[in-house]
Amino acid sequence: MMKFQRVYVLGSTGSIGVNTLDVIARHPETLSVYALSAYSRIEQLAAQALATGAAVVVVPDEPARRRFTAAWPAGRTLPEIRVGAAALADTAADSQVSTVMAAIVGAAGLPAALAAAKAGKRVLLANKEALVAAGALFMKTVRDSGAELLPIDSEHNAIFQCMPHFGRAGAATHPAKGVRRLLLTASGGPFRTTLLEKLTDVTPDQACAHPNWRMGRKISVDSATMLNKGLEVIEAHWLFAMPLERIQVVVHPQSMVHSMVEYDDGSILAQLGQPDMRTPIAYGLGFPERIASGVGLLALTSLGRLDFEEPNLDRFPCLRLSFEALRAGQASCVTLNAANEIAVDCFLKQKIRYTEISRIIERCLHREVGRVRSGLDSLEEILALDAETRSFASQLCHVK
Ligand code: NAD
Ligand code: MG
Repeated sequence: MMKFQRVYVLGSTGSIGVNTLDVIARHPETLSVYALSAYSRIEQLAAQALATGAAVVVVPDEPARRRFTAAWPAGRTLPEIRVGAAALADTAADSQVSTVMAAIVGAAGLPAALAAAKAGKRVLLANKEALVAAGALFMKTVRDSGAELLPIDSEHNAIFQCMPHFGRAGAATHPAKGVRRLLLTASGGPFRTTLLEKLTDVTPDQACAHPNWRMGRKISVDSATMLNKGLEVIEAHWLFAMPLERIQVVVHPQSMVHSMVEYDDGSILAQLGQPDMRTPIAYGLGFPERIASGVGLLALTSLGRLDFEEPNLDRFPCLRLSFEALRAGQASCVTLNAANEIAVDCFLKQKIRYTEISRIIERCLHREVGRVRSGLDSLEEILALDAETRSFASQLCHVK
């Protein structure tokens, strides 16, 4: 019988957050919401807190607190409202919390995800940028605290499901025995077959129109550039202690095979399912049991076919840059992620062209590689490099 869990959903108003609340609501006898956090959609947060009976909400500042109170219906008891980035992280260590869904977008989610790991909670990790920026520190923290780490990103969740069973969800220190390679599938996004010369003129809405998944706008642009797959290769490297040479990206336009594990004996195990994040979310919440997610089954006979192809690194320079960053080390991974966050934000605000995203990342990476630096061992050092790269990347966006 599944243990009762009180969940803290970081980024509850986002795409992953909303899907998480959907799954939790299907299991009132074993899952409950203890705390929720949001950054901008405060009225939606109030509606979620009302529906779930959350005891605590975390908002970024005083104006957001006032908006929350104003949106709250008269006569109902207000949840405890905590304010600011420190409260966001501290709530992850709250003794009432058993499980933390890390679903904030970007490196902004790193301190809270790390706090959840440090407190030894069950950590459901959607926030891949946290692992890209702080892989070694994050995995060491999980190991030291004995936290349970369950990947929610669909590819990593699929790989986790296809791995030889380790019984619990800890932090790997070496590649699992008998595993030859990880095969990470990628849809290729909306521009997989667009003429290369047309890419300079694509709009944010075109870039966000993903063929198979509905997601937040930042990750949608990342899927179009395939920087998302680059972040995921780095994420897989840390989660499964796998060297870059043993992680293969395979373009699979139907997004039905969510990823695969190739074994020494010639077997390949794959996880298939509808492209719906409630499946990996339910897997993480229920682990080691399987619980209902609300997702329908795959109608295999009406699928017709499954295609697989090599990624084209000329079409997707961001993928090549991600491989370079992982080879170069931690500082380059922090730089890759921070430069991308700024470039994508500027593209979404129509300050730069789509094709400038990879150029800005490349310039930031070259600047970083030219430097001499000692380790990036602490959260403070990582956040300092992240902030410094953001400011350099912003300058590059504005001279355009
Ligand atoms: P989203 O943009 O829909 O939601 C982001 C959430 O983070 C919102 O609740 C927002 O309020 C909060 N947030 C944003 N900036 C913040 C800040 N500075 N401080 C605190 N909170 C902040 O994003 P999403 O699509 O739900 O993605 C969330 C994370 O999950 C990302 O790291 C993404 O890469 C990962 N992920 C998403 C999907 C998906 O299907 N959407 C799939 C795999 C992985
Ligand atoms: Mg993914």
